[in-house]
Amino acid sequence: DTGGKHILYMEDITVSFDGFKALNDLTLYIKPGELRCIIGPNGAGKSTLMDVITGKTRPDTGSCFFGQTMDLTRMTETEIATAGIGRKFQKPTVFPEHTALENLELAMAGPKGTWQALLQPVTGQQYDWMAQTLETVGLLAQKDQLAGALSHGQKQWLEIAMVLMQKPRLLLVDEPIAGMTRQEVERTAELLQSLAGEHSVMVVEHDMEFIRSIANTVTVLHQGSVLAEGKMQDVQNDPKVIEVYLGE
Ligand code: ADP
Ligand code: MG
Repeated sequence: DTGGKHILYMEDITVSFDGFKALNDLTLYIKPGELRCIIGPNGAGKSTLMDVITGKTRPDTGSCFFGQTMDLTRMTETEIATAGIGRKFQKPTVFPEHTALENLELAMAGPKGTWQALLQPVTGQQYDWMAQTLETVGLLAQKDQLAGALSHGQKQWLEIAMVLMQKPRLLLVDEPIAGMTRQEVERTAELLQSLAGEHSVMVVEHDMEFIRSIANTVTVLHQGSVLAEGKMQDVQNDPKVIEVYLGE
C-alpha cells in the first residue's frame, strides 16, 4: 500500500515471451505531476513497460493500478485511454491532409472518432480548448497549416497536442526527440517540463544530455528490472549503470 500518493502503482510485474522475461519483477511508482525519465539499453523492456500500462500487453504476474482503484491488468486499451492514460508513439501519426486544428478535432473525437467528426460543428468552448492546446505546444500560428507541411519537430508537438485533447492524467512519451534539430530538442524539453505538474509524464529516451536537461527522477531498466532509480546526477555515477552502458 502506498497510502494514496501515487498515480501509477506497478508491483512485481513479469511479462514473458516464449519463456523470455521482457519484464522481470519490475516495481515502479509514479507520483501525480511527476516527470519521470525511463532509460536503459536496447531490449531493457522500456516499450514493454509502456505496453503493460496501456493494456496492449497483459503481465503474467504482478499488479498495475492507476490511481487507487483502476486495475489496468483488467481493462481494455480503450478503457485505459478513456480513464486518462495517453501515449505518444515514437513516429508521428498526424493526418497530413488536414490542418493542425482539424487534427485536434479528430483527436477530440477519441479512439472511435473518424473524419466525420470534421462535419460536426465545433462549440466555442471546444475551439478555445483546441486553440489553448495548440498554444501550449507552440503551434497556434500554424493552426491552419496542413499537418503534412509541418516540420518533423512540429509534427511531434502536434501529436502531443492530439494526445492532450483526451485530457490524460498520465502521459507516456516514447523517444520524443529522435530526428529533431537542436532547437526543437530544447523546445521539447521546455514543453515536457511545462506539461508536468498538471499531468504526470513518463518519457522513454536515449539521449543523456536531453535527460539531464529535464531530469527529475530517472529510472534505469536493465533486463526487465529496475537497475537504479533516483536523481540523474546520482544515477549516472552509479557503477552498475556505468557498467551496463559501457557494455552496450
Ligand atoms: P526496449 O524498448 O527497452 O528496447 P522492449 O520492451 O522492446 O525493449 O523489449 C524487451 C525484450 O523483449 C527484447 O529482448 C525484445 O526482443 C523482447 N520482446 C518484446 N516484445 C516481444 C514480443 N512481442 N515477442 C517476443 N519478444 C519480445
Ligand atoms: Mg523500445
